[in-house]
Amino acid sequence: MAADLQKWRRSLPIFPARGKLLKEIKARPSCVVVGETGSGKTTQIPQYLLESGVGTSGVVAVTQPRRVAAVSVAKRVAEERGCQLGSEVGYAVRFDECYSSETRLKYMTDGMLLREAMSDPTLSRYSTVILDEAHERTVHTDLLFGVVKAAQGKRRGDLRVVVMSATLAAEEFSLYFNQAKVLYVQGRQFPVEVLYAAEPQQDYLHSAVVSILQLHCSMGPGDILVFLTGREEIESVQGVLRECQSMFPSNWQGIHVQPLYAALPSHHQQQVFKPAPQGCRKVILSTNIAETSVTIPGVRCVVDPGLVKARGYSPVVGLDILSVQPISQAQARQRAGRAGREAPGSCYRLYTEHTFSQLRENSEPEILRCTLTSVVLELLAMGMSDLLTFDFMTAPSEEGLVSALEQLCLLGAVEGREGKEGVRLTALGGKMATFPLEPGLSRAILQSSVSVCVSDYVCSCDCCCRREAAAKKWCVWQLCSLWTLSSSLLPPSETRWLLPTRRFHSPHGDHLTLLAVYHAYTAASGKKAWCRENFIHQRNLRAALDVQPQLVELSSRVGVALVSNSDSRTVRRALLDGLHCQTAEHVGGGRYRTLSSRQEVFIHPSSCLFHVRPHPPCVMYSQLVHTSKCYMRNVSVIEADWLAS
Ligand code: ADP
Ligand code: MG
Repeated sequence: MAADLQKWRRSLPIFPARGKLLKEIKARPSCVVVGETGSGKTTQIPQYLLESGVGTSGVVAVTQPRRVAAVSVAKRVAEERGCQLGSEVGYAVRFDECYSSETRLKYMTDGMLLREAMSDPTLSRYSTVILDEAHERTVHTDLLFGVVKAAQGKRRGDLRVVVMSATLAAEEFSLYFNQAKVLYVQGRQFPVEVLYAAEPQQDYLHSAVVSILQLHCSMGPGDILVFLTGREEIESVQGVLRECQSMFPSNWQGIHVQPLYAALPSHHQQQVFKPAPQGCRKVILSTNIAETSVTIPGVRCVVDPGLVKARGYSPVVGLDILSVQPISQAQARQRAGRAGREAPGSCYRLYTEHTFSQLRENSEPEILRCTLTSVVLELLAMGMSDLLTFDFMTAPSEEGLVSALEQLCLLGAVEGREGKEGVRLTALGGKMATFPLEPGLSRAILQSSVSVCVSDYVCSCDCCCRREAAAKKWCVWQLCSLWTLSSSLLPPSETRWLLPTRRFHSPHGDHLTLLAVYHAYTAASGKKAWCRENFIHQRNLRAALDVQPQLVELSSRVGVALVSNSDSRTVRRALLDGLHCQTAEHVGGGRYRTLSSRQEVFIHPSSCLFHVRPHPPCVMYSQLVHTSKCYMRNVSVIEADWLAS
């Protein structure tokens, strides 16, 4: 096995360039590596560095925009090195870490490295920082560019920075890092035939299903990769394919559907790398993850509806909205490229050639598209009080920064905005920054807890949880732990609110429903059977529970004790403390208006309040999603007079 893997490593397109890459990377403080997805950048370059002794002077960090990629790549590399995960090779993602003092190579999300930079701005533990998938330009990677550059300029002249990108647009990175050298890695790319829809498609999901079936019946051997926008879409297409399959004659080749999305448990994600069962064709239904983060062998054909679900700031609402948007031309090319890694392939674009020509060339950096509240809080926590002088690769608008400061002021996290001397974090703001949660949630947790002297801190999670289960009390912090995974906790939305899950419905809304599910789970004796009976994803629920000790630990670090409240009102009021900008009132016929911007919104069909009549007059929500209308997700009932106080 190990020998096979070594042979495989030597067969990757990047291998012939090993010596040159090492020489160039070691010769200078910063460089940019550009190479097609699948060439071996993420898994091999860090290993080459280790093998050449770089890891001895400090850990090699490799950042990834996605948790999925960080964990799955770390597993893969540990396997290639024949070591146990967590020893030489480890990973760190939000709420899940696996590394030790032995670890020399650490795959981590960009958000995690940024958190470390808050307490250690020069990243003193690391000899090398590799910023991978830089072309994605996530907010966190963008901030890290500034952090590593500042560290190199300060006391860390020895810090080596490698920026890795899958697209050719590397000049921007090179310019930013003082004309850093750009190294190109040859990829393996066979021709891909691109076909367009003759006319615009009304229903892209329908077109996707039809295309999959037609391809399955007509193409030779090889797998099909389909890009969809989210878990719900993936599950619904999966359902339709399953039904269609039952109509095939029994002697037909089968379809083996493999979903791939961020919230999927990682052992399921690993399945995607395995070949389909004998006599079957693999059809991978994936979100954007498969665009550049993971490479799936066997794909000969790509079906691309041309859409992606992305976060975007809505000036109308004053908040980020998740919505389905057209991809950029660069993304469309990446997607098509996935079909030609091992042999010539084809890509079916479910949009016209004209539509393609109208797409923007490259995606906009996320920092220009999202609310900057968390960003500003993180920068302030890193001691960068003068935001306007931070060396952004692409600077967000001044209004955006000011509006984030206003939000943080409302949440009590900063003060002194009026004065020209800059702003300061308040004690509350400093504590809020410690939690890897949205500032509103952190505030809700902190407001519902009591301050204690750190040395008096006695509550261990174990006792606390047991007490909770016995008393069935409500805890804001427990709720937040569930919240971080709420999208993956409950069954798909079609079945979500059917019996028997319905029995957990709280008249107060989704947040308390989540808590009710949690209480019932902790009280259940046969947990596995309980989850099966109730259509709850046990693995995801357990992952949510794993978050709790960490919240307890973080709370003890900032000197507060997490408490439980005896009634649901207190919990909802504490939540409202953090969500007071995310409230809406009923204006008739199921239509709501947000209180901050008077935007028309509706309760999402997945909410337990969707069928409740009369409509609750006043609600708060965790998130807005824009599909056919603007929907509120995770909704809870509040009382109007709470808003006044
Ligand atoms: P790049 O970063 O250039 O896109 P990677 O280093 O991620 O390339 O991948 C190199 C090769 O390793 C690809 O062919 C991919 O299929 C394979 N690979 C990556 N991760 C895994 C995994 N978890 N299991 C099996 N193969 C993998
Ligand atoms: Mg990669």
